[in-house]
Amino acid sequence: MPAMTNSAQCQTNSDLAAAMGRVFGFHQFRPNQEEIVQAVLGGSDVFAVMPTGGGKSLCYQLPSHLLTGTCVVISPLISLMKDQVDAANENGLRAEYLNSSLQYNLQASVLDRLAAGELDLLYVAPERFTRSDFIAALKTVRLCMFAIDEAHCISEWGHDFRPDYMNLSQIVSEFPHLPVAAFTATATHRVQEDIIQRLGLRDPLTVRASFDRPNLFLQIEPKNDLHRQIPAFLRKHPGESGIIYRTTRSDVNAMAEFLADQGINARPYHAGMDAEVRKANQEAFNRDEVNVIVATIAFGMGIDKSNVRFVLHGDLPKNMEGYYQEIGRAGRDGEPAHCILYFGYGDTSTIRYFIGKMEDENERAAAECKLNDILSYAGATACRRQRILAYFGETYESDNCGTCDVCAGDVERVDATVESQMIMSAIVRTDQRFGASHIVDIVVGANTKKIRQLGHDQIKTYGVGKDKGKTKRHWRRILDNLVAQGCLLSVGGEYPTLQLSQKGHDVLFGRTTFEIFEKIEKKSKPPSSAETETKKRPRRSRLDIVEDYDYDLFEQLRAVRTSLARRQNVPPFVVFSDRTLHEMARDIPTSPTAMRQITGVGERKLAQYGEDFLAAIRKYSRK
Ligand code: ADP
Ligand code: ZN
Repeated sequence: MPAMTNSAQCQTNSDLAAAMGRVFGFHQFRPNQEEIVQAVLGGSDVFAVMPTGGGKSLCYQLPSHLLTGTCVVISPLISLMKDQVDAANENGLRAEYLNSSLQYNLQASVLDRLAAGELDLLYVAPERFTRSDFIAALKTVRLCMFAIDEAHCISEWGHDFRPDYMNLSQIVSEFPHLPVAAFTATATHRVQEDIIQRLGLRDPLTVRASFDRPNLFLQIEPKNDLHRQIPAFLRKHPGESGIIYRTTRSDVNAMAEFLADQGINARPYHAGMDAEVRKANQEAFNRDEVNVIVATIAFGMGIDKSNVRFVLHGDLPKNMEGYYQEIGRAGRDGEPAHCILYFGYGDTSTIRYFIGKMEDENERAAAECKLNDILSYAGATACRRQRILAYFGETYESDNCGTCDVCAGDVERVDATVESQMIMSAIVRTDQRFGASHIVDIVVGANTKKIRQLGHDQIKTYGVGKDKGKTKRHWRRILDNLVAQGCLLSVGGEYPTLQLSQKGHDVLFGRTTFEIFEKIEKKSKPPSSAETETKKRPRRSRLDIVEDYDYDLFEQLRAVRTSLARRQNVPPFVVFSDRTLHEMARDIPTSPTAMRQITGVGERKLAQYGEDFLAAIRKYSRK
């Protein structure tokens, strides 16, 4: 076996950056990338937790190019392998994959290429490592490293344990001279220790990157009328790719149908659909043929698409982990992406219904706890980013993140003590035996049968909210916030009733105040063409995004990308990311040299696509 003597070990930093520029067209390392690449080149093991979109693949793809021998990449998602291999090949890396979906004769030819030393990268599924013939084959060829993607799958403490991953424990003993780099986007400290121990990593360079995704704009809106709110958002984001999450399959179907009726290019996705149709919808989304996917949380695992520009949650997610993972699918290319959570506390009853069906008592209690965590996130009157990162144990240092609705000044904190007292008084006067809509009916003085029958039009609080000229929706929003902030407790199963907590009593008796966020209506819009809301926002230096680009040119370039992608039979984001097209539409390169300055345009892609894009830019400039 070749010893660990690689000329690449003495790469200087500028050599590395130059190689990255040639292959990937990137001009700067993202946080931690350089350190990891250096470690691997020096023969060390690596354990890295980096958020989605953090740029994990470069950490092994660049070494695979610089080192002699093949890098074996273990990845659990067969559905993603082809895109990953296509993307590597587009950059001129020599990559193949082996998994059960590949025909036998094609598998043989991949193994031939491996044996001939023609591969920089070989992607395989973890179950390959159950086969001694495969391990034997690997031993006869020159390898340079192992990269293990989604490494948390090896830990039973994690949320995504896969027995197949257990087979990976043998890598270190079977190939002791090769560095092993393990990557994941999620791992608590406990899971981290477990991964390192199970894989047998040897004094690995350990990286825990910040969970922060600064390019994601975080927003919470009261959930009033989704069929009005969501189309209004979509109209401001024409042609952009995005995901709308709904909790139930029937809501997915209804919303997808409704949007399609409105002329929006939307398709549904959930586990109850015909598998073929579901797959076709995902594929069409991946290829930018469908703009919007309305989905349950079943959607996302097989999604590597980098140009998802928004993720909307039509219903309250059941926990913070899920929420962060789902919004994490937006903006992998680092460009701005918009995440809105439409919050109404009514959604908790659906979630509680599912929790009620859990058999294990501890599991039920844990789920209940997690639901309260996300409720308190939704009701908090503080920077969204700070709250989310705190949940994951990270302290956010700045007092203004710049990319949430709170920090961007889209909402203001207003005092709602008196109004909340009216609501809670109605609850107390009806013996804490009723649910939200009845309480709101009492406050606004509605003339319902239930109120008449129960004599609730006689209580002192009946109609106190009437002359304030506020809608039911307004009262409902305050009530939702009372629950989210823990002043009211929702008690009972299917028809929950509202009861006051200690905190609620404190507000009711004036011992403390109660605040909510109110959206500040900005009248002086609307923006023209595809100008998004995010563009106007104050930008902070920590954000590396393309700000002022020519939208019309971007649209033209996007069309070029789509047609080239079709010709090559790859998804458009594999040809170039939105980031790359945004830079082109800002810098307007008109020569190959200028084109190479654009992020994402390496030598291979310049040769392959440069002329097509230059032609489009020249044509546009002449006009
Ligand atoms: P992860 O696997 O961590 O989610 P990827 O490896 O898919 O992330 O990278 C996410 C996106 O960031 C891709 O579009 C990739 O091309 C881009 N990217 C990675 N590293 C850099 C870099 N140093 N400069 C610019 N873009 C980068
Ligand atoms: Zn903020």
